[in-house]
Amino acid sequence: MDTESFAKHLLTMADSYRTSDIHILPEQRHYYVYFRLNGQMEKQYYLDRDEGTRLISYFKFLSNMDVGERRRPQSGSTVFALEEKSIDCRFSTISNYQSQESLVIRMLKQKKESGQAMPAFFSQEWNVLKALADAKSGLLLFSGPVDSGKTTTMYHLVKNRLKGERQQVVTIEDPVEIEEVSFLQTQVNESAGLTYEGLLKSTLRHHPDVVIVGEIRDEETARMVIRGALTGHLLIASIHSKNAAGVISRMMELGVSLPLLQQTLIGIAFQNLLPLYCPLCDSNCRTFCTHNERDRKRAALYEVKSGDSLHTLLYNADNHHVSKKQPDYERREFNYLLRKVYACGYITKETYRRYIIPNE
Ligand SMILES: [Zn+2]
Repeated sequence: MDTESFAKHLLTMADSYRTSDIHILPEQRHYYVYFRLNGQMEKQYYLDRDEGTRLISYFKFLSNMDVGERRRPQSGSTVFALEEKSIDCRFSTISNYQSQESLVIRMLKQKKESGQAMPAFFSQEWNVLKALADAKSGLLLFSGPVDSGKTTTMYHLVKNRLKGERQQVVTIEDPVEIEEVSFLQTQVNESAGLTYEGLLKSTLRHHPDVVIVGEIRDEETARMVIRGALTGHLLIASIHSKNAAGVISRMMELGVSLPLLQQTLIGIAFQNLLPLYCPLCDSNCRTFCTHNERDRKRAALYEVKSGDSLHTLLYNADNHHVSKKQPDYERREFNYLLRKVYACGYITKETYRRYIIPNE
């Protein structure tokens, strides 16, 4: 393996292990490469002296250090582009008294730790979503306003699907918001040429079981998502729309034909996160109140379309057909469920009014 390929391999491995730093350390006539995992240094690779020197020189070159200077300590940084993501790395060198350099690569961490499950108002919808997320292939679309918990929902459904079993899950996001060690998380970086479409294309070549796409916002991404769903993967994505039915028209606006949607779409969820009424606060539960735990002051309301209700929606999306009207309780649409939540006293009247979807 040449130096460049080995460097790429090393960073990819380190990233998949969620290593915080890589140490390339000299010993007599060779080098050892260590990964720091959960605070512990673990020996990963043995390199002979020439291989080690070449690898260090290569990293020095990449991070704009003086390659010829081997005695003075140096530091540098670079964003290293791997197949599906780019990694922000900080490098530092130091030499021993025999002018043998050692190099440490610090890999910068991503933001939040994995989020907690948020409570949902109705188990019926949540159970349907869990079953849909277990599908071998197809397309599952989520919609809802900003901060309606779409990413948290998608992550929890996929984690639930894994149940400890090893499956390849790749996420493509802009940016990554939740850190999840069991997923391969990639991030869009337009200036580095990493687009949703491009990342999705390379992801599909890796034959993942599940792909989570942060947002479908252009025709190219919509097309790739459909292609992924048609070729035996489960694609879970979010898309902008004001209600569940709007998801279909939005996909069609992005150039996806109705027959392709009928072939791939297995479910649609429209969601919002509602502040819970608290009897102690006598309103939405306030931050300092201990009646509801901090991350349980809001609950998710889902409208889910799958099976017959999805077929009806797809059927009605074709303008030639007249809408088949089902009774309210059968349709379980967002506004109907919101009314029910309000009637049960879980939310205030203000919340009910604020979250209702206009002219659904
Ligand atoms: Zn309260």
